[in-house]
Amino acid sequence: LASPPLLPPIPPSGPADDGRPGRRADADGLAGGTMLVSAAGIAAALLYLVVLLMTVRAIHRLQVPLDLSRRRAIADLERALEHNELCVHYQPKVEVASGRPVGVEALVRWEHPERGLLAPAEFLPLVESSPPLLVELTTQVLDAAISDCARWNREGRALSVAVNIAAPSLLEGPLADTVRALLAAHGLVPQKLILEVTESAIMQTRDDVRLHLAELQKIGVALSIDDFGTGHSSLARLSALPFDELKLDRCFVGTACTDRRAHVVARLIVDLAHNLDAEVVAEGIEDEQALRLVAGLGCGLAQGYHFARPLPAERLCDWLDEHSSFSTEAAVTRRAEA
Ligand code: C2E
Ligand code: MG
Ligand code: MG
Repeated sequence: LASPPLLPPIPPSGPADDGRPGRRADADGLAGGTMLVSAAGIAAALLYLVVLLMTVRAIHRLQVPLDLSRRRAIADLERALEHNELCVHYQPKVEVASGRPVGVEALVRWEHPERGLLAPAEFLPLVESSPPLLVELTTQVLDAAISDCARWNREGRALSVAVNIAAPSLLEGPLADTVRALLAAHGLVPQKLILEVTESAIMQTRDDVRLHLAELQKIGVALSIDDFGTGHSSLARLSALPFDELKLDRCFVGTACTDRRAHVVARLIVDLAHNLDAEVVAEGIEDEQALRLVAGLGCGLAQGYHFARPLPAERLCDWLDEHSSFSTEAAVTRRAEA
């Protein structure tokens, strides 16, 4: 196919002089056309350059405030970590068969002086983009969780504590040394500490992930795969990884209530974990129907708003005093208040 002309045909510029109409005019036209094309080309190139410069300036203008606000947010977080504005709330984990609370999960919060209590989604992504901030946050959460758990156990509450570990802190910081030192400082046996790593982090193909996990397990702490069912697991990798607990993601629990195929997959996950000698915690139990479902699937532990929302340490103790002796039936039928 002939491509369409880029410029309109140029009309003859003068009279034909050799008796053959249009001949000389064609030659002149061509020369004029060439001049016009090059003039148009230069104009187009200049225009392109101007637009390019304007775009670069606009991006730069946009980037400066972005960089500034990011720098300000990081400085704000550094100050928060220095002034102990981050705190830990605890959500109970309940044994399905007995209805007994057997452990808690530590969940970080930011008591912002102006904005009030902030959930992790509002600041964790920024923390995770800055390795020094992440190391500091992980250390502070571990310190609070291990110290609180040691105190509860001294007071006669036999509880374990689970702490979330983001993928970068698993790879970059001296995590095993920190954990060892904090357990010794607060006098908590390692078996009471569970480290939760998300499925997508644990499934990274880097070999050092496995080595770091093995090093942590040597200390005697338990390893849990968080949010299972949402990442991209390789079964081969799962069989090679040392883990003691698997947390069935709450989106899974939700769909398995109504969808037969999701139910079949959830059952397979629970059986798989049990066959690998791991405990299964069902996440996001919001009502009795979900609790009955996961009880039927064979999940050993359950966690969710049905029992309690994450609570500050002081309120957790009150909650435990009220709910330490659920019967199995009560676990299924009673809605705990937050
Ligand atoms: P996660 O580890 O999967 O924690 C469970 C999240 O689900 C918590 O949200 C909890 O409040 C919420 N949840 C519990 N039960 C229910 C329920 O029945 N229904 C619903 N809809 N939600 C429920 P939160 O506290 O906002 O934490 C979100 C995520 O932030 C955590 O997910 C974890 O990945 C991360 N995170 C929290 N604390 C820390 C921390 O100290 N360090 C790191 N690295 N990550 C943390
Ligand atoms: Mg978790
Ligand atoms: Mg989870």
